[in-house]
Amino acid sequence: MPFAATVLTLYPEMFPGPLGVSLAGKALGEGTWSLDTVQIRDFATDKHRSVDDTPAGGGAGMVLKPDVLAAAVDSVADGRPILALTPRGRPLSQERVRELAAGEGVILLCGRFEGFDERIFEARDIEPVSIGDYVLSGGELGAMVILDACVRLLPGVMGAASSGEEESFEAGLLEYPHYTRPVTWEGRTIPEVLRSGDHAKIAAWRHAKAVEDTRLRRPDLIERHGGASQAPPSGAQREDRASKK
Ligand code: SAH
Repeated sequence: MPFAATVLTLYPEMFPGPLGVSLAGKALGEGTWSLDTVQIRDFATDKHRSVDDTPAGGGAGMVLKPDVLAAAVDSVADGRPILALTPRGRPLSQERVRELAAGEGVILLCGRFEGFDERIFEARDIEPVSIGDYVLSGGELGAMVILDACVRLLPGVMGAASSGEEESFEAGLLEYPHYTRPVTWEGRTIPEVLRSGDHAKIAAWRHAKAVEDTRLRRPDLIERHGGASQAPPSGAQREDRASKK
């Protein structure tokens, strides 16, 4: 069974969008995953087809109505996890992405305006998910982010690299930096150790770099993983200064 994605949105015309090209697009064409969109407005009941109303308690903007959202969700709910995009959600993690990609698919609910009537989350067992600490104008780009992250992990999509075990976040660290030819470019030379052919040394250097960059850019990751993943691979020595010019 292919991974089945259903997106509930006021702007179905945004899909597949970027998911229609490259790896995800090819996998979509090959039937590795499927993508359906549902127009939330189709579930409006009044003559104006309204999907939103003013916020209880006052304030700016409009709020998506729970009855309309529920009808849209109920039209597709089939046991797949239902996630709603909201900056108030738990931040998306590679761990959650892996879980989702291992399942049958996902239903994604995209907000607009001020977002959702809060009651929908509990009423339909919907998981609130954020893609980062900033505010977008709608959930659609977030839904694409989640789907892109899931689809690249589906069997066959990335070929040999599909395990992605060395990638950022897999060990609680950012991935090590990459280099390719030319060896010297604009006066900058690829770290010597990467050209040594010594695989143990290279592994040690990469690990040290991953730790160093994570400490510098994402100390929160080090903290969260208790530093457990910071030990270099056994038998390897730190070489991270060797190549600095
Ligand atoms: N008033 C809300 C923001 C609404 S933005 C608040 O302050 O929490 C409109 C819609 O964009 C949201 O309903 C959500 O679906 C989407 N969105 C905005 N930022 C997002 C983020 N960081 N992660 C996921 N979805 C987001």
